[in-house]
Amino acid sequence: MVETITSAQSAIALEEKYGAHNYHPLPVVLHKGEGVFLWDVEGKRYYDFLSAYSAVNQGHCHPRIINAMINQAKELTLTSRAFYNDKLGLAEKYVCETFGYDKALFMNSGAEANETAIKLARKWGYLKKGIEENKAVIVALKQNFHGRTTTIISASTDPQATKNFGPFMPGFEIVDYDSVPALEKALANKNVCGLWIEPIQGEAGVYVPHDGYLKAAEKLCKQHNVLLMMDEIQTGIARTGKMLASDHENVKPDLLILGKALSGGVMPISVVLANDEVMMMIKPGQHGSTFGGNPLAAAVCIEALQVVKDEKLAENAERLGKIFRERMTALIKKTKQVTLTRGKGLLNAIVINDTQQSETAWNLCLKFAENGLLAKPTHGNIIRLAPPLVITEEQIHECCDIIEKCITTM
Ligand code: PLP
Repeated sequence: MVETITSAQSAIALEEKYGAHNYHPLPVVLHKGEGVFLWDVEGKRYYDFLSAYSAVNQGHCHPRIINAMINQAKELTLTSRAFYNDKLGLAEKYVCETFGYDKALFMNSGAEANETAIKLARKWGYLKKGIEENKAVIVALKQNFHGRTTTIISASTDPQATKNFGPFMPGFEIVDYDSVPALEKALANKNVCGLWIEPIQGEAGVYVPHDGYLKAAEKLCKQHNVLLMMDEIQTGIARTGKMLASDHENVKPDLLILGKALSGGVMPISVVLANDEVMMMIKPGQHGSTFGGNPLAAAVCIEALQVVKDEKLAENAERLGKIFRERMTALIKKTKQVTLTRGKGLLNAIVINDTQQSETAWNLCLKFAENGLLAKPTHGNIIRLAPPLVITEEQIHECCDIIEKCITTM
């Protein structure tokens, strides 16, 4: 007989005993989700202010996405790429037309899509730019987060991500984020094939670069014949108030990397988009994934993106993000507990007036949870606040009231 969970404590105890301890979750055991809400096993309702790290932009269990998933699951789920299927081409066309590229390469996790982009940039570097074999360099930025594979962490500056996981992959040069002079210097190296950027550094704590940084990066890439590799896995799909965060500066990356909300959070789907000059570098047998581009993912991805367009989620994120930051700015004037708010659209953070090592942000998140709102600190004293984009103005105000009450009574 299949065991069932009878209490929050028993669910936590099971994970603690049988699961690897690679996360440190808040002590909340979730059971159900709908739109902006989550419910725990005891039936308590919460506003979700993490959105599964921005994977559920369309809201939990969006009925249209779930229907697309169920309908496709009844027909065909996986063929592998050894054969054609009748859904993949439709999804490829849909994403290419949506984002304005010639070709798409579907993978599953965000990390895999970044790995794909690295391989594409290197191959292009050797075959088109004429870099000597094995000398290609990708410029990455301090405090980046692109995933957890051994190659990706080779470009990380976070000791938690790297300590005791070496040896590392060579071929990365790490420079300061948000510094145009640092890019000017690094991209002048003739062996550089790619510049790898998050338009807003989400995991690091929602660091927004100055206006014009992305445009300057794009210009320098063109000048030095370097591919601009934009990791929009967290910032893309309407999260920051435009379909892509790059759209705020009218920047068009050479390699666009998407994941998370590409499926509305119902299954792992990621994709790399590029024009033919770059994408056609990869020939049969040189890259792939058993699950990448499966018909189930293809059907889900089309519906998940169509929902974002039909429900005008970018516009909602833009409008409600402004209200949210106004409320947080007003709160900062009233209290000494919060020192800063920053973000774009509905990807925001507040900075708690304490050291990175202190427990204050964690304790505040526990208090948020008690009061019906779920969020989690990222890097000590920073709390990321990112609800599903289907949230309404009334709900945003209610959530700001909860946040305000918890902070002012801390
Ligand atoms: N890139 C960015 C910007 C991310 O925020 C994340 C995940 O948080 C990833 C890549 C990794 O995605 P995944 O966890 O699906 O591998």
